[in-house]
Amino acid sequence: MLQLSNFPINTLKSTPNGSDNTSTWLLLQWWYIRQEMAGVYSFLPIGLRVLRNIENIVREEMDNAWYHEVLMSVITDKSSWDITGRWNMDVMFHVPAHDDKQYSINPTNEETVVPMMKEFLQSYKDYPTCVYHIQKKFRNEKRAKSGLLRGREFLMKDAYSFHIDDEEFSDFYESVKQVYVKIFERLWVGSDTYETVADGGDFTDKYSHEFQTVLPIGEDDIYICSWCRLGHNKEVVQGDFVCTRCDSKEFDLKQASEVGNIFPLETKFSKPFEVEYTDKDNKMVDRVLMGCYGIGISRLMWVIAEYSATEKWILWPESIAPASHYIIVIGEDNIENAFELAGKLESEWKTVILDDRMGRKDWFGQKAADCELWGIPNRIVISPKTLEQGGYELLQRGQEPTIEKL
Ligand SMILES: [Zn+2]
Repeated sequence: MLQLSNFPINTLKSTPNGSDNTSTWLLLQWWYIRQEMAGVYSFLPIGLRVLRNIENIVREEMDNAWYHEVLMSVITDKSSWDITGRWNMDVMFHVPAHDDKQYSINPTNEETVVPMMKEFLQSYKDYPTCVYHIQKKFRNEKRAKSGLLRGREFLMKDAYSFHIDDEEFSDFYESVKQVYVKIFERLWVGSDTYETVADGGDFTDKYSHEFQTVLPIGEDDIYICSWCRLGHNKEVVQGDFVCTRCDSKEFDLKQASEVGNIFPLETKFSKPFEVEYTDKDNKMVDRVLMGCYGIGISRLMWVIAEYSATEKWILWPESIAPASHYIIVIGEDNIENAFELAGKLESEWKTVILDDRMGRKDWFGQKAADCELWGIPNRIVISPKTLEQGGYELLQRGQEPTIEKL
């Protein structure tokens, strides 16, 4: 329960600087986040609740798919990056340490996960497997922009899978797409989020895949096949559009924001780290296939906010909102009743913000406004008036208020 009587943050403040879109403005204005510098944000109590809700939905679906959660280090020794030749990546923060040592602050984790898993993946029986973690990542962006969209630090879920058989890898890769579809459905952006074919970059000759949520201010142009609804990133449409899945030439061009990506890594990282295993005949084999699978958690907070924003506030879906219920209590005599009700709701797995501010802030208008600004879907009022009417007032989003028994 979040109790507002001792809450250090209030929404009475001036308009924030440094936002170039509605949702960032709203996230800053209503104290979800605080900008520390360009592209770097702290999450305040209300915003952190939203971030954690998104993170937990992603975690639940990863666990349901039997991927294994780890937490890898934030810094990695230069020697690992020397093996893959990626030490001088543009976006890497380099940290000089004692005795001429140098560390990275990690923008990605292949250089950590591969040496780690190499220790355990010794036999063909150890494959396939997939590990994931949810961790902050750091990118030395020249120009950070659009709030949580292209930050210098951001929260990401990244998963890494290991395989010894091409067909098995392909099946696994396809199954991750299904896990992602479920995640975006649970995050309420599913109906406007498209699997999108993208360039494989340095990793593979094949395509990689992105998940793109259609947004009017999205940073990518995607071509969505009119027949099978597969998206295509602009970079893979050269000349006329032909769908890579169904050969259709008809498309809808939309602006979208990337919320996830999956890459076949082939042997790009297992080779340089010399990952080997013993096969059925007890022979050493050095061909291990990998895939990596990302979801931008803090970026998703921004995308969902943009997706659900009105001009004044963000209508969070109940599973993501800072709390499912906001209890406004008027009159000190009623605080005990409010605590009891909050306890009852929490025993039913609801989440509660209890607005028990008294004295100067004991003002219904301010409390009701904060409930709206933070996008809480269910508002409860306990006051002398509602008690006279027989209990508390419940106002569910989009419905008429009702009086419920305490
Ligand atoms: Zn198609």
